Amino acid sequence: MTLTVLDPATEEPIAELEQAGVEETDEAVARATEVYPAWRSVAPADRARLLRRVATLVEEHGEELAKIESRNVGKPISGARGEIGMVAQVFHFYAGAVDKHYGQTIPAAGGEAMTFREPLGVVGLTVPWNFPLNIASWKLGPALACGNTVVLKPAELTPLSALRLGELVLEAGIPEGVVNVLVGKGSVVGQRLIEHPDVAKIGFTGSTEVGRLVMQGAAATIKRVTLELGGKSANVIFEDADLERAAAAPYAVFDNAGQDCCARSRILVQKSVYDRFLGAFITATEGVEVGDPADDSTEMGPLVSAAHRETVSSFVDGEAVFSGKAPSGKGFWFPCTIVEATNGDRVAREEVFGPVAAIIPFEGEEDAIRIANDTPYGLSGSIWTRNGARALRVARALEAGVLSVNSNSSVRVQTPFGGFKQSGFGRELGMQGLDGYSEVKSVFISTEG
Ligand code: NAD
Repeated sequence: MTLTVLDPATEEPIAELEQAGVEETDEAVARATEVYPAWRSVAPADRARLLRRVATLVEEHGEELAKIESRNVGKPISGARGEIGMVAQVFHFYAGAVDKHYGQTIPAAGGEAMTFREPLGVVGLTVPWNFPLNIASWKLGPALACGNTVVLKPAELTPLSALRLGELVLEAGIPEGVVNVLVGKGSVVGQRLIEHPDVAKIGFTGSTEVGRLVMQGAAATIKRVTLELGGKSANVIFEDADLERAAAAPYAVFDNAGQDCCARSRILVQKSVYDRFLGAFITATEGVEVGDPADDSTEMGPLVSAAHRETVSSFVDGEAVFSGKAPSGKGFWFPCTIVEATNGDRVAREEVFGPVAAIIPFEGEEDAIRIANDTPYGLSGSIWTRNGARALRVARALEAGVLSVNSNSSVRVQTPFGGFKQSGFGRELGMQGLDGYSEVKSVFISTEG
């Protein structure tokens, strides 16, 4: 069955692709299994050189890849350029990490004990549509650096950049079969990867709902899983914060049209500065440029699909305090929207995954922590205050994996990324990313006799 890939800004088809089924998935796993012994035996410096070459090719093809991503996801070209830049950085980082992922020597009676980091084998990588190539690279980089071979399944809506990367990987000199990109349905290809006895691990990024299925399915073969799931992150704004700076960053929730697992879609504001903050936030949001993703000045594009726009709309049933402008006509457009809420409202409890910010008042520090933690999710968040002790206290008290103080950034190549609670487990990026793609083997050598 063919798959029609659409441009979300125009609803025009941009590609027709053949979809893989169970048979093609099994063939890809067989190819990855066959070349695994040779790939894991590549000398570390050579594996590093190959990954470095992938990074360089991504840089050389940066504009091409950014255009593919922008057109397929409907994301502004400026954002897409940044994301592709990060893809290159990720490959550079893990090229440099190949020969720095050390074992240990451990004091032991009667001999010497040491540990080795061993690859897992064939790993299945399943990624979502919001940051297609970026998130794929977070998994590919450490998986390949550790000596695994991979089957990568991009989301049905956005397979184009992964297919192009698959070609660049070969051009870089990574042998055929080490990276296999399969376009197909989650319920078919994704499901088969979970079930396949020769797949050692699933690196999954997507919704908490599908993450649950991955975890259940993986139990049958005791597969390792890394789950990067949904979020409902809080942006906590204290009265002693630089309010203008905090409010001037509406992209904390509207970036990528809110289709960001780290979107700070709950904005918790101390009551004493609530009105001032709201006014400044509305002014900043009015300035968000919504329009043609190919235009350099555009800051927000459409949502990814008609079905997704319907879901996002369902969260705005009452009066919004602000609703911005969006193009009419073709394209899955949805305006920046600000609603006042309590933490019990559906808009504050469920992941909207669209440009809808829920503003929630709080009394003091204890109240802020209670509300911020009152969610099944725990991915990211921000704390805005000029009081250093408070910043640290609140950062320690929040149940989330990735926090920033006086900043809305969540992702850095060098630092671990991942969730608490139902936002998943396992860490990507940084040196911790390598732990998810390797096993620790302990070897004891007797020195007696
Ligand atoms: P999704 O869960 O619908 O799909 C993710 C991937 O899983 C896709 O490739 C899909 O084809 C596949 N899939 C679907 N059903 C499957 C099944 N039964 N078995 C195996 N695979 C299956 O998510 P989405 O709509 O593509 O992405 C949005 C979600 O991803 C949001 O919830 C968002 O928060 C989350 N996300 C999380 C992170 C993170 O790092 N924590 C990052 C980005 C997105």
